[in-house]
Amino acid sequence: MALPTVGVLGGGQLGQMLVQAAYPLGVKVNILDAGHSPAKQVSYHSDHIDGSFKDPEAIKRLAAISDVVTVEIEHVDTHILEHIADQTDVQPSWTTIRKIQDKYAQKEHLHAHGVATAQSIPLSNPSVEAVEQASKTLGLPLMLKSRREAYDGRGNFPVRTVEDFQPALDALGKNKDLYAEKWADFRMELAVMVVKTKNEVLSFPTTETIHENSICKLTYTPARGVSDATSEKAQDLARRAVACFEGKGVFGVEMFLLKDETLLINEIAPRPHNSGHYTIEACPASQYDAHLNAILDLPLAAEALRLCEPAIMLNILGGDSPDSHLQFAAEARKHLRGRGRVHLYGKGQARKGRKMGHVTVTAPSMYEAETLMQPLIDYVDETAS
Ligand code: ATP
Ligand code: MG
Ligand code: MG
Repeated sequence: MALPTVGVLGGGQLGQMLVQAAYPLGVKVNILDAGHSPAKQVSYHSDHIDGSFKDPEAIKRLAAISDVVTVEIEHVDTHILEHIADQTDVQPSWTTIRKIQDKYAQKEHLHAHGVATAQSIPLSNPSVEAVEQASKTLGLPLMLKSRREAYDGRGNFPVRTVEDFQPALDALGKNKDLYAEKWADFRMELAVMVVKTKNEVLSFPTTETIHENSICKLTYTPARGVSDATSEKAQDLARRAVACFEGKGVFGVEMFLLKDETLLINEIAPRPHNSGHYTIEACPASQYDAHLNAILDLPLAAEALRLCEPAIMLNILGGDSPDSHLQFAAEARKHLRGRGRVHLYGKGQARKGRKMGHVTVTAPSMYEAETLMQPLIDYVDETAS
C-alpha cells in the first residue's frame, strides 16, 4: 500500500517544513524550484525538478510524476494548474488560488459570501485623479495596494495626505492593477490557520501577529489581551472565510481587530503561513502535518489542532551584514540553551528584511514564554539600525 506522491510549486521555507512533515508519513515530495532551494536541501531524491515554479513545461513535468500538486506560494500560473487538473489532483483548487492571488478579487469573493473585509475600491486605471476619487469614499489615510504579486508589504503604500498620491503611484507602478483600501485603525492584528479537509473546516488557535514595516515580526499564541469571546469570533470568521473557497489544505487567515472589537479579514493565503510556524512546537499536529493530512484525505481530529502550551515565534530577518542572521541564531541558542527552537532555512544570500529563519519558544504560561523570548526581541531591536 503506497501513499500518494505530492508535488510542490516552490521550495522555500514553507516547502522545506512541509517536506520535514512528510518524511515521518512516508510521503514522497517532489519540489519544483531552483536546485539549491531550502526544501531540496532537506530531501535527497532524483525526482525533484530544477527550474522556475512559473515555467509551464516544468509544472507539467511535476504533475506527471505527482498524484497531488500543491503550492507553497500563491503567485503561480493558475492557467497551467487548470490544465494539469485534468490529470492530477490540484489542492487547493486552482480556482481558489486564482481568486486569492488577486487581493481585490479575493475581497470581492469574501464580500459576496457575507464575510467582512476592509472596504476596497479597484483602480483599473491608476492615476492621481483615481486615488483622489477613492479617497472621497474611503477617507484618508488609506492603503494603496497592488492587486497581485504582493508579499511582506511590498505591494502596499500608506496614503496619508494628498501629497502622497503621486509618490504612492510611483512606488507601486502606474501600470499595475491597484486598489485602494480603507485604513483599518486596528487595536491588534490576529491570524488563524484554518484546515479545509474533504468534509470539514477546522481551525488552529487565534494568534496575535505583530508586524514591523509591514513584515511579520512576532506571533503570540494565544493572542494576548483578547477575550475568549473575541478569540472564538476570530476563529469562526476565519473558518467562514475559508469555507467559501474550493479545495483542501491549510489556509492562513489574517485579520484586523478594530478598537470596537469588530473583526475584518485582511487577507487569506491558500497555503501554510508564517503566522502558523508556532504549530510545529505548540500543537499535536503542525500546520504542515495538517496540510498533508487535508490534501491526502488522511484522518485529522479537531483536537490535533489544539494548543498544548503558549507559544511565541520571532522571525529572523536578514540584516545589514550577510551573516547577521547567523550571529543572531548563535545568540539565540546561547540564551535559550535548548528551551526553544532556532530554525534556519538554509537560504544563501541574506538581504535586509528577507526571512532567513525563526525562533519558537513554548512554556507552561505566556508570562514564562515572554520572559524567555524578551531578551531576544531586545537583541533584535538593539542591532536593527
Ligand atoms: P503578506 O506578507 O502577509 O502576504 P502583504 O504584502 O500581502 O503581506 P498585507 O497583508 O495586505 O500585505 O499588509 C501588510 C501589513 O500592512 C498588514 O499586516 C498591516 O500591518 C498593514 N496593513 C495592510 N492593510 C492595511 C489597512 N487597510 N489599514 C492599516 N494597515 C494595513
Ligand atoms: Mg499577502
Ligand atoms: Mg499579509
